[in-house]
Amino acid sequence: MAEETIFSKIIRQEIPTPLLYQDELVTAFRDIAPRASTHILIIPNTLIPTVNDVTEADELTLGRMITVAKKLAAEEGIDENGYRLIMNCNDHGGQEVYHIHMHLLGGKPLGPMLAV
Ligand code: 5GP
Repeated sequence: MAEETIFSKIIRQEIPTPLLYQDELVTAFRDIAPRASTHILIIPNTLIPTVNDVTEADELTLGRMITVAKKLAAEEGIDENGYRLIMNCNDHGGQEVYHIHMHLLGGKPLGPMLAV
């Protein structure tokens, strides 16, 4: 059994964090340390520690994460100029919170995909 992270507490609102979206599958809220004027995290309501732990049973949830990202990008007014969706996995991917999440980043030109 994977250990819960702070994100499970945010989903349950045990740590009060304004939610931008929540349904039976996913939850979205702003990143606490935004790297762009729009920086939103979209996460599954069930704990999946890393992308390596995703199974076929999660496909509906992962698809929902994308459709919610699209909806929130439109609400933020960044859909036409564009944005970036990122999922980090494990150490080399720079993952800090082991509850998978999609970063939705935008509101300015984001530059090259990787800092090298
Ligand atoms: P990762 O590096 O795992 O892909 O990204 C984790 C993200 O979660 C980071 O951008 C970090 O700022 C954000 N984060 C960590 N703890 C909290 C929290 O308690 N609240 C919110 N809103 N974001 C958090």
